[in-house]
Amino acid sequence: MLPLLPTTIAGSLPKPSWLAEPEKLWAPWKLEGEALAEGKRDAVRLVLALQEKAGIDIVSDGEQTRRHFVNGYMEKLEGIDFQNLKTVRIRNRYDANVPRVVGPVARPKPVHSDDARFLRAATMRAIKFTLPGPMTMVDTLFDEHYGSREKLAFAFAEILNQEARELAALGVDVVQFDEPAFNVYFDEVRDWGIAALERARAGVTCKTAGHICYGYGIEANIVWKKSLGNEWRQYEQTFPLLAKSSIDQVSLECANSRVPIGLIALLEGKDVLVGAIDVATKRVETPEDVAKVIREALKHVPRDRLYPCTNCGMVPLPREVAAGKLAALGAGAALVRAELVSGS
Ligand code: ZN
Repeated sequence: MLPLLPTTIAGSLPKPSWLAEPEKLWAPWKLEGEALAEGKRDAVRLVLALQEKAGIDIVSDGEQTRRHFVNGYMEKLEGIDFQNLKTVRIRNRYDANVPRVVGPVARPKPVHSDDARFLRAATMRAIKFTLPGPMTMVDTLFDEHYGSREKLAFAFAEILNQEARELAALGVDVVQFDEPAFNVYFDEVRDWGIAALERARAGVTCKTAGHICYGYGIEANIVWKKSLGNEWRQYEQTFPLLAKSSIDQVSLECANSRVPIGLIALLEGKDVLVGAIDVATKRVETPEDVAKVIREALKHVPRDRLYPCTNCGMVPLPREVAAGKLAALGAGAALVRAELVSGS
């Protein structure tokens, strides 16, 4: 049974320095072969202990078993060339070296089944597993085969659907699809993005979530955010569409952002994972900082629909900073929980 205001995290956590270079996206592994496999399992044990100690109710593997939230999945698929990368503009705002789609994409075998089995056996808590969303996958590569972002997105959605069904069957409680691209390509979100996401979640027997954010605290995103004006109203376009979709939960950025908090009321009927931890700063929130965000959110979302969460993944942060932020999240949620119980 989950408590009132169950806490969870958006996705990634920093990796130990013996596993991968710290504070770096897509950092290469420092181990190989069986030592790498063992190292990943040990890293998962560490992030589980950290989350449990911090009072996180729905825990994840912190993405310790993959190098990147999109490429970590795509590198296990056929039809994608990771040898000869191509520099392209992604999310409409920065250049990145991305893999190329050179043929039909296919999944030769389950990507995360073993990871999910290990995670399920390693904790008594509810578990979440994150996967990249179809539109964000399309936006993180160079297509030389499909000639249509929509067609490629649906090819990925088929693959993700098989994966998500398997994860649910292995006892995963929440499968989350990460769609930061939903905050950029509004016409495509309306025309086929939501439909591709629904294809990915069709028939999945556990809860499904969509995560839409303003990205990691990297320089390109900080510059982009400065260009968005005093009020960030991007969610106003996507939330009504998500509210009508079959997705159960929506994870969004809130802490320290210029998102007008009232926009979360557009997600009526959905669980709302409110970002109460800013991942773009090394400053560690106090429990009271977290509690303030939750109290504001409670004005717009029923208490049994609200899940205190992080704004985004924390992989680029120093480990001790991420640990402090997790502890603040757990403690801040506990403060508001106590207020609700004593007041009701
Ligand atoms: Zn994010």
